[in-house]
Amino acid sequence: MGKTTGDRDPLLVEVLAALGAVDLRESYLIDGAAPKKNFLHGTQCADIVTINPAPSIVSTLVHELVHVVRPQWSEKGVRRRTTQLVRQLSHDEVVAIYREYLGRKEGAIE
Ligand SMILES: [Zn+2]
Repeated sequence: MGKTTGDRDPLLVEVLAALGAVDLRESYLIDGAAPKKNFLHGTQCADIVTINPAPSIVSTLVHELVHVVRPQWSEKGVRRRTTQLVRQLSHDEVVAIYREYLGRKEGAIE
């Protein structure tokens, strides 16, 4: 995947070291400043990082499902329409789709 030799960005080295220094949490997050517009993927407060995996998973799932129902479409077209479709989902719908994914998926990254 990534490069492992000498030309790595020093910031990446710091970032990876910080991974070991923070507490990690998972939660569904809603952007208080724009609760209906944005999906909030994560927050950082002091040494606590909270990740909301639902929007990313649901967006990927919708993308792949567009491929299922429109197999003739180009990758570019699928991406464009996926963005439009995901913007139409409510937070409750994203949570419901994410729960369906969690309940039905097989396999896991070890
Ligand atoms: Zn695709």
